[in-house]
Amino acid sequence: MSKMGKYREKVKAGACWTCGGERKKYDSYCNRCKVDKKTAKKRWQLSIMQDLIDMYGGKCACCGEETFQFLTIDHMNNDGAAERRLYGEKGGYGFYSRLLRKPKRDDLQVLCFNCNCGRQRNGGVCPHQHLSNSSDAVTIRHIDAIIQELLPC
Ligand SMILES: [Zn+2]
Ligand SMILES: [Zn+2]
Ligand SMILES: [Zn+2]
Repeated sequence: MSKMGKYREKVKAGACWTCGGERKKYDSYCNRCKVDKKTAKKRWQLSIMQDLIDMYGGKCACCGEETFQFLTIDHMNNDGAAERRLYGEKGGYGFYSRLLRKPKRDDLQVLCFNCNCGRQRNGGVCPHQHLSNSSDAVTIRHIDAIIQELLPC
């Protein structure tokens, strides 16, 4: 039997696809390989976000927060979800890794989760911006947007 044929036999017999060890009937991998894969994926996601945040300035464009764990990439035009849908990617990491390989874009910025949520719940402007410029009162348009976007983010 060919090497590939033997391998297939093994997989059919209930062996882990990666190490050939014992696996549960409806899984493809043994528990140890499953954890390894999850860890590798997490590490990959983390490194993509770190590189991307570095590339886009490394701190919140609104409040200056620099702690990586608080930071995310923000679409200035609020079209992030639509764009990710366009690419058809779940979770967005395929999309993020593609951004890394492209020139820096003008419509993306680094924001902390506070400012990101604040912006979404405040009609596209972080409440910090209102605090620093009190004459910029919340308009009717803002209130409409606030009502529409009072979703967990
Ligand atoms: Zn395994
Ligand atoms: Zn911020
Ligand atoms: Zn802010």
